[in-house]
Amino acid sequence: MNGPILCDTTLRDGEQSPGVAFTAAEKISIARMLDEIGVPEIEVGTPAMGGEESEAVSGIVSLGLKARVLARNRALISDIDASLGCGVTVIAISLPVSDLQIERKLGRDRSWVLTQLCRSLKYAVRRGLSVCAGAEDASRADQEFLCEFARAAAACGAERIRFCDTVGRLDPEETFKKVSDLVSRVPLPVEIHTHNDFGLAVANALAGIRAGVQVVSTTVLGLGERAGNAALEQIVMSLKHLHGMETKVRTERLRPLCETVAQACGREIPPGQPVVGEAAFTHESGIHADGVLKDPALYEPYRPEETGGVRKIVLGKHSGRRALLHKLKELGLPLESLQVSDLLEKVRCLSLRRKRSLADWELSRLYEETFVLPDAVEPPCRGKV
Ligand SMILES: [Zn+2]
Repeated sequence: MNGPILCDTTLRDGEQSPGVAFTAAEKISIARMLDEIGVPEIEVGTPAMGGEESEAVSGIVSLGLKARVLARNRALISDIDASLGCGVTVIAISLPVSDLQIERKLGRDRSWVLTQLCRSLKYAVRRGLSVCAGAEDASRADQEFLCEFARAAAACGAERIRFCDTVGRLDPEETFKKVSDLVSRVPLPVEIHTHNDFGLAVANALAGIRAGVQVVSTTVLGLGERAGNAALEQIVMSLKHLHGMETKVRTERLRPLCETVAQACGREIPPGQPVVGEAAFTHESGIHADGVLKDPALYEPYRPEETGGVRKIVLGKHSGRRALLHKLKELGLPLESLQVSDLLEKVRCLSLRRKRSLADWELSRLYEETFVLPDAVEPPCRGKV
């Protein structure tokens, strides 16, 4: 079954992540990678910012990617002109739809929003642009007004509506209800854009997909405002393995993409990051390591190679005999099984002392100290842990 269209906004919402700033060259290189792995839509920035931002947008447009390239706009003629100046053919026009944002942020009312929506949409459509109408703060909006907004967007020429859970305040059940209702009542395809304030961005996006959206908004590593957005790599792998949906993304290239983006952010990928974290396919505890050595499916949801990763068995405080023997064999260090207990105790002890798994060189040194030069070197640890 074909999955929804992915609209990746790493280069727009992702870059709005606190402390993240991409150069034009980094944006162009990330856009190229997103295109190469098969992401069909890329939201690349806000041309109205001018300077290096509009240069980056123009630069990405001139690459002639297979992916559709979107630029973000407020509902202002000057923003649309800036997008036209960069050569984009698809834009998102964003307007708040919750009373809270309409009144407190803009000092306006609902009718002003509808007027501004139609005015900007018609201006853009007359100039040949395809437009996604972004309903900002849709999750906190009155649902009747949201539907009115969507119908107005359809009447004024929008190609789809973006349902934004701007402050990540929905759970999957609520998302399903609100999005199903919207999908059934408006004559436009719906996109879902979720935020991760409660750690539910991916779950909510998946709920939106079950509810019938045609487009899902993602960012690499879940970058984005505050706690971020729905992570591209998590959405792709969840669709494939939990929903049985194909996205045409070359999943084996997800890890290099994530590493490139992390580097451009000046951030490390946290070890426990789902799908692409260092720990995602690393096994230490005795039972799990023994399990994956018998059959990886016992403790892995899919093969690590699918995302460009590798399975690792590491030694530490929780290791067992089988993992130790496996590791020694990998390193070409022969050992009788009767001798394992001694070395295992030292492995556990050193790992506890260093508060981490052991590197291969540390295991080799322990092995030497225990069996090759037992009297020459002070053992690193005495007694049972
Ligand atoms: Zn957002």
